Order: sequence, then C-alpha cells, then structure tokens
Amino acid sequence: MILPIVAYGDPVLRKVAKDITQEYPKLEELITNMWETMYNAHGVGLAAPQVGLPIRLFVVDTAPFGDDEELDKEEQEQLKGFKKVFINAKIEAENGKEWDFNEGCLSIPDIREDVKRKPEITIQYMDENFVSHTETYDGLLARVIQHEYDHIEGILFTDKLSSLKKRLLKSRLDKISKGKIDVEYKMKFPNIKKGR
Ligand SMILES: [Zn+2]
Repeated sequence: MILPIVAYGDPVLRKVAKDITQEYPKLEELITNMWETMYNAHGVGLAAPQVGLPIRLFVVDTAPFGDDEELDKEEQEQLKGFKKVFINAKIEAENGKEWDFNEGCLSIPDIREDVKRKPEITIQYMDENFVSHTETYDGLLARVIQHEYDHIEGILFTDKLSSLKKRLLKSRLDKISKGKIDVEYKMKFPNIKKGR
C-alpha cells in the first residue's frame, strides 16, 4: 500500500525517533509499504518519520544510481545491488574531508541543494530479521545512508545549508508545508486541513 509522504513542516520530521523491538506491530507490512511508497515516488531512500512514524527505521535502494556514467564501474555495481533495511541504526563514526553532493528529499519536493558531508561512515544497525551488523560505507552509499539517518535524528538536509541559503528558501518551504505545490506522489501537508 502506498502511504502518504509527510511534507516539510510536520513536527514528526523533527523528532528524535525511538528504537523498536521485533514485536513492533505489523512491522513486516510497514516495511513492505515503505518500499512501495519509496519506489512509487522514485526515491532511493525513505525513513519512517516520512510516513508519520517517529521510529528508527529506514530503507535504502540505490539501484537508480547504478546507471550514473560519471561513477566508476565498481561503484556503479555496488550501488546497483544495494537494497537494505536499517533498524535502530547508530552511526558510530564519520571520517574524511567533507564533500558536496546535490541532495533532494521526498518530504521537500522540487528543492535540491548541495550539502556537505563526510565521505565515510561506520554504522551499526539491525536488518529486518533483527540480525545486528556493523558496516563501513563510503561514496554515494554513505551519502544516502547519512541523509536517511538524519531523518531518524529529526534533521533535514535544508538544516545543513548556509543561513543565506535558508533565508532564500524560506518562502518555498512555507509553500510546501501548505501544500501549494504540484507533486506526482501522495503527500500529507501539515498546514492544510486535508491532504490531496
Ligand atoms: Zn529525505
């Protein structure tokens, strides 16, 4: 089932999300719905707060980046095959010199900006079977995971922009929260009574 994606301005996007247990109600169904919702919106990641749930769960499938000709073959192959569920994730380390990448977000349609992040992360998480993993990622994979991880910490990519950029974007962000935007997928807007 495709779920409405919560738009910028909704308080759920600002919560530090909580860990869950294997007993979380209908977890399998939720994960299935999150995949469906993400693919329908042509995203490469989706975090539970974006469907209104302040829990530490996000999904990532970087396959669309696998066709990016600017990347080397090895990274293309890695991105093509990367599809994972992250539960109760904790980033343990971030290393290297910050680099810019043009990011967007399904909760903030039509806005894309360069965001600085460190290139390498080590993350501990559980998969959908609650098996614990600790892994190190770099490049675009790390980038997508960092973006989704921020969602479960209540952080949005626009928070990372300069104060000038934020001022310039303010009216567009207000419009998004009011639903004054054309978007191809189902959304829920905080500042109007009814979604559409
Ligand atoms: Zn996002």
